[in-house]
Amino acid sequence: MGVSRAWIGCVAFVVLLAIPLLACARSEPAGRSGAGRGEPLRIVATTGMVADLVREIAGERAEVRQLMGAGVDPHMYKPTRGDVAQLTAADAVFYNGLLLEGKMTETFERLRAGGKPVVAITSAISARSLLKEQAEGETSGDGDAGEAETDPHVWMDPALWATAVGPVRDALVALDPASKAAFESRASAYAAKLKELDGYAERVLNGVPERSRVLVTAHDAFGYFGRRYGYQVEGIQGISTESEAGVKDIQRLVDLLVERKITSVFVESSVSDRNVSALIAGARAKGHSVSIGGTLFSDAMGQQGTYEGTYVGMIDHNVTTIARSLGGEAAAPAGGMQGKLQGGKK
Ligand SMILES: [Zn+2]
Repeated sequence: MGVSRAWIGCVAFVVLLAIPLLACARSEPAGRSGAGRGEPLRIVATTGMVADLVREIAGERAEVRQLMGAGVDPHMYKPTRGDVAQLTAADAVFYNGLLLEGKMTETFERLRAGGKPVVAITSAISARSLLKEQAEGETSGDGDAGEAETDPHVWMDPALWATAVGPVRDALVALDPASKAAFESRASAYAAKLKELDGYAERVLNGVPERSRVLVTAHDAFGYFGRRYGYQVEGIQGISTESEAGVKDIQRLVDLLVERKITSVFVESSVSDRNVSALIAGARAKGHSVSIGGTLFSDAMGQQGTYEGTYVGMIDHNVTTIARSLGGEAAAPAGGMQGKLQGGKK
């Protein structure tokens, strides 16, 4: 809280300062006040995953604010007045896109119309690489029922997420051309780190017996994960938390758990576990015991300042937790890829 107040205060200060500077600012690129004077770029990002990616590539050249903290659901997030002030004052805005931030579309359009760089970091992903989900008839809200929706949860596949590195790097270079070499070298170092993460994930997830490679979670955030690592994934809710899980869905999933003898299902840090509890109760009624295998980070990362509050830590936590809960303990160390996880707590 204190931090964001300070930021808004700082914004107001900069705006006041800018008025007498307008005349001499004409010779500089419009709206790129941070660059070229040695001051860090002021970036606002939506989710923690987007903010983390920009931080990794920008390094000290940018001060990155994220609007959505740990446990916040991006599908339902509406920008506050404070957010709009931050967005308006930023040199550039980075967001996931693919309608993940479905309630911010108008805000992005307004900012763009005002001439601000507003970057959807998933823009370089080809349509062929994206998953579609047919919207269910009972989907609520203003979505067009029956139309295929694009699954926005691309960060769940580190190899796919790596395709966002290029657009972020290029947008930063456009904002601050003098730092091009630094952005490029940080971008390739980070891409290598993502490759290492992908390799670790593949190794530990392959340690789970094939018949147990079924991931049941609160909502459909793990489609790209399933495709990448060969897991059947079942979300109780659809790809947006806006839709409600129907009773039929729960019954179908109970049958699946019983049939495949799956004993672990997962809750998510940013989604209510009400439906998961209903699923466990439904299985119990059929004489099949299921427990919660752990809390996964789906649409939000862990607390800022912790390992799980970084993208690499988030995915490390998820794949290690999934592998260990589904029978892959031998291949997945409790401390994860780098021994940094908090002991595989459940
Ligand atoms: Zn989601």
